[in-house]
Amino acid sequence: MWNSLLAFWDQYHGLIIGFAVLALVLFVNQFIFRRGWKSYPAREQYVAAHPGSATAGGVVCAKCRQKAAGMAVASAGRIYRCTWCETELYRVDRA
Ligand SMILES: [Zn+2]
Repeated sequence: MWNSLLAFWDQYHGLIIGFAVLALVLFVNQFIFRRGWKSYPAREQYVAAHPGSATAGGVVCAKCRQKAAGMAVASAGRIYRCTWCETELYRVDRA
């Protein structure tokens, strides 16, 4: 039984560790986003502070003009961040 478990680990440990790290990063991110939730500007504040970031296709990053990617934050709302410069742009509170 242990042998097959060991063989399984040998074969998939890269994958298992990869998933564990990914889960940990997502978990830590949730914690960080929730903790600093009010420090992120609301969508309206971001647009007001960065004129021109609101385009017909949605709000874009003021720095690199890339569309922000939304990410759900449990019991808080959604955070929009630029995946190019790794910056949090604005938050949308849960309705
Ligand atoms: Zn950016």
